[in-house]
Amino acid sequence: MNNFELYNPVNYVFGKGQIAKLSDLVTSKKILLTYGGGSIFKNGVYEQVKAALSGVEIIEFGGIEPNPRFETLMKAIEIIRKEKIDFILAVGGGSVIDGTKFISATVHFEGNEADILHKRILFKDTSKVVPFGTVLTLPATGSEMNSGAVVTIEATQEKLTLGGSALFPVFSIVDPTVIESLPKRQLQNGVVDAFTHVMEQYLTYNHDALLQDRIAEGILQTLVEIGPKVIENPTDYRLASNFVWCATMALNGLLNKGVPTDWATHMIGHELTALYEIDHARTLAIIGPNLYKVMFDSKKEKLVQYGKRVWNLTGTDEKIAQKAIEKTTEFFQSVGMKTKLSENTENYQETASFIVNRFEERGWKGLGEKQLVTLDKVKEIVEMSY
Ligand code: NAP
Ligand code: FE
Repeated sequence: MNNFELYNPVNYVFGKGQIAKLSDLVTSKKILLTYGGGSIFKNGVYEQVKAALSGVEIIEFGGIEPNPRFETLMKAIEIIRKEKIDFILAVGGGSVIDGTKFISATVHFEGNEADILHKRILFKDTSKVVPFGTVLTLPATGSEMNSGAVVTIEATQEKLTLGGSALFPVFSIVDPTVIESLPKRQLQNGVVDAFTHVMEQYLTYNHDALLQDRIAEGILQTLVEIGPKVIENPTDYRLASNFVWCATMALNGLLNKGVPTDWATHMIGHELTALYEIDHARTLAIIGPNLYKVMFDSKKEKLVQYGKRVWNLTGTDEKIAQKAIEKTTEFFQSVGMKTKLSENTENYQETASFIVNRFEERGWKGLGEKQLVTLDKVKEIVEMSY
């Protein structure tokens, strides 16, 4: 097993009715409440938040869009600076939480704010960011319990990451009943995003971190078992609570400890969202299985283990590895994904060369666990997904 440090300071508050705990968890007298397009006003989450924070002065900042925009977030930063706010409460899905992480990092940042994204500046000093908590409304990204974020610069159509140990939420309230109001499409997205987060940290090559593999396989199996059901039945608390916990566990920084990680599917997928505004999870369903095909030789041993343990496949190793990829595609399709780029956007013909040029400009030569996803491979993967 590789050496590692495990640091996660998030006070994770899980369960029915937990939003009321905000009254204890928020200690500031004046906060910025960040939210998205208004779903929180329709499903009762806003009322619960307001009721819990009756003595707190709340300045609201709504309109954080799915795939949060740099340009929008900069407006919130102005408000915090002007109003001298010292705490932010993010109420929403991954986009609102990610956007809030960017706001938190940027308020005291001196310099060109876009550099945070372009130069991947790491935020490690908690005294230089604005602390924030979250109320999660969409299980998918794990953003409620990790310190990473993805922000889009609209002007240049770039979707880039930021992070650092100072950007963990102070607390996250995760009430599984909030998924009852989610549109089916977002439930589908949540299952596939969580599933792919596990795959990025699992489907690499054989190593000796045995427990890590078993935890990853446990999450994958649970998602296979309950994913299709929770989409049809989000009011079933047994399904909802397990789904939400899977999504958090998939990307709260536990699975990647001591093991190699891939993340190439996410890196390529981000480009598809930046170019065509395809939902994040849908880009992963398009790219993931094709990446496993193109990188078949270097991932074969792990594909066999995945096929045997997650899908109960039998046969020769070659057959199991191939069938495991087919099973993955079928699973994504069974939860409502369209796994070809052409099914998600028109005018996709130049996509591969566009993405390769972008990666070249950024100096990205090889992605993945062994940096074997070279630009030629990226081209092949993207073309295979047309
Ligand atoms: P999202 O973009 O936050 O939300 C998608 C849609 O769902 C929005 O229209 C939102 O509406 C709606 N919604 C959220 N909660 C709802 C509820 N309870 N009821 C009804 N509608 C609800 O989706 P997401 O998948 O959570 O986040 C995607 C973003 O996270 C992408 O930018 C992706 O790249 C990023 N991401 C981050 C990480 C990470 O580790 N930080 C990992 C993977 C992906 P409103 O706007 O009206 O609320
Ligand atoms: Fe993701």
